[in-house]
Amino acid sequence: MKKVVIDAGHGGADPGTSGNGIIEKDYNLKISKYMSDRLNELGIENTLVRDKDETLSPSDRVNRIKSIYGTGKDVILISNHLNSGGGDGAEIIYALRNNDTLSKKIADNMLLAGQNVRKYFQRRLPSNPSKDYYFIIRDTLNNESILMEYGFVDSNKDDVNQIKNNYEGLAEAVVKSLAEYIGVPYKAPSGSIENYYTVKSGDTLWNIASKYGLTVNKLKELNNLSTNLISVGQKLIVSENASNIDEPSNNLVHIVQKGDTLYSIAKLYNTTVDKIKKLNNLSSNTLQINQKLIINDNASSTPQTNLFTYNVVKDDNLYNIAKKYNTTVSELKNINNLKTDVLQIGQKIQIPIIGNTKVYYVEKGDTLYSISRKFNTTVTDIVNLNNLISSNLSIGQKLLIP
Ligand SMILES: [Zn+2]
Repeated sequence: MKKVVIDAGHGGADPGTSGNGIIEKDYNLKISKYMSDRLNELGIENTLVRDKDETLSPSDRVNRIKSIYGTGKDVILISNHLNSGGGDGAEIIYALRNNDTLSKKIADNMLLAGQNVRKYFQRRLPSNPSKDYYFIIRDTLNNESILMEYGFVDSNKDDVNQIKNNYEGLAEAVVKSLAEYIGVPYKAPSGSIENYYTVKSGDTLWNIASKYGLTVNKLKELNNLSTNLISVGQKLIVSENASNIDEPSNNLVHIVQKGDTLYSIAKLYNTTVDKIKKLNNLSSNTLQINQKLIINDNASSTPQTNLFTYNVVKDDNLYNIAKKYNTTVSELKNINNLKTDVLQIGQKIQIPIIGNTKVYYVEKGDTLYSISRKFNTTVTDIVNLNNLISSNLSIGQKLLIP
């Protein structure tokens, strides 16, 4: 049977991100300990990489992981993290060497736990796209490695509440997914009601089973029933969700967010509206929030990351820059190889742009005004987003368009 290594990200001298009274390293540890206790209850072998507040260098951490159960495919690594940068929702990042089966399950169960999911995806190192972006995924050889971002500590939507008051529910979504994936019968934690159905007058095992996408035998097995008799008011475990549409593995899937259109999604993934409609059998352009869209049947496809150069001005700091561009301080430090948080005025740093922002290359005759008209925006917005210090443009210059 597969074994699980649970990594509470950061720790000790490295607090990770923070905001709204949340310190990432502490919640990563709480989530990880909860997960470990629950996996123990379900009989799934697991080990925590750290079980206290301690400092681990990336190589200490990787070495510890390797020494727990080895580096084979039968080991699942879950690295627990929180995000920052003002977004909202969970992100699930899986290894280039793996398919999306487990990530997809986690996304489904996360939605059922009440947390929105921004996306599950693979992320490549900009300097070497054949490699994974995160060291914890890249350096753990054949392990099935997943990095979880449960939510944004600085979200202006519900993530702060999700993290503070529902972190066990979010961790449980991963536990449930692991049980389903590994093939161990899942039982909800005692006291939780989400995974129970209360029998009503006229119910039969057959109609309850079909309602939850189970067979009668599976329902009996989950509840240790030896006969088909049930009584009104009886609570039944219905732990497996209604069956999902079978999506071929390795597809890139986008989960529709508020404000998304087929056009913006097509742009984001460098594909076309027609292609998305065809892959998803869509007859209209209407989308529902949380709808899953297959983007591409090509396994290697990932969202395009554009980098652009930002000129540091007076009073800038990494946190504000990260916030403005919906990224994180650690991501900026990673990409730019920064050893400290100190920035110099005039310093150039690379910013990753993933999202609905368009990139425009300046053509002959363009002015800020003409570009703003073309994209139905304002000169001020373009100047602010690009942190321009002069209105002179050069042909071929890369501009972000809000
Ligand atoms: Zn983190």
